[in-house]
Amino acid sequence: MRMSRHPRAHCSRCDALCCRLTVVVFPEDDIPAYLTDTNAQGVTVMARDPDGWCVALDGARMNCGIYETRPSICRKFAMSGPYCLDVRAEAARAAQAIPIRVVA
Ligand code: SF4
Ligand code: SF4
Repeated sequence: MRMSRHPRAHCSRCDALCCRLTVVVFPEDDIPAYLTDTNAQGVTVMARDPDGWCVALDGARMNCGIYETRPSICRKFAMSGPYCLDVRAEAARAAQAIPIRVVA
């Protein structure tokens, strides 16, 4: 994955990194139960697929498949805002990390 060093971010140039975060679903959110899960703390969250993305993500387009009815937390997540920049910076650090291979 190629990450920009420029501090501004745009969803059209991002692999929906924020859709790999824990998304708490509140009772007022109108999310079908089959898209949700209950985490270890007993909190209702968006379910994730085996690769870690929210199950509501349209993987072909890398955008939200329930955009009009997405959870309130997702509505507040601002493109190029502080949380967006944090998650992108973290992904960039992880991509640059050199894996350590233990040879027996
Ligand atoms: S809000 Fe930020 S992290 Fe989420 S898809 Fe857009 S650019 Fe990527
Ligand atoms: S509901 Fe949509 S915007 Fe929110 S994490 Fe899932 S795919 Fe992303």
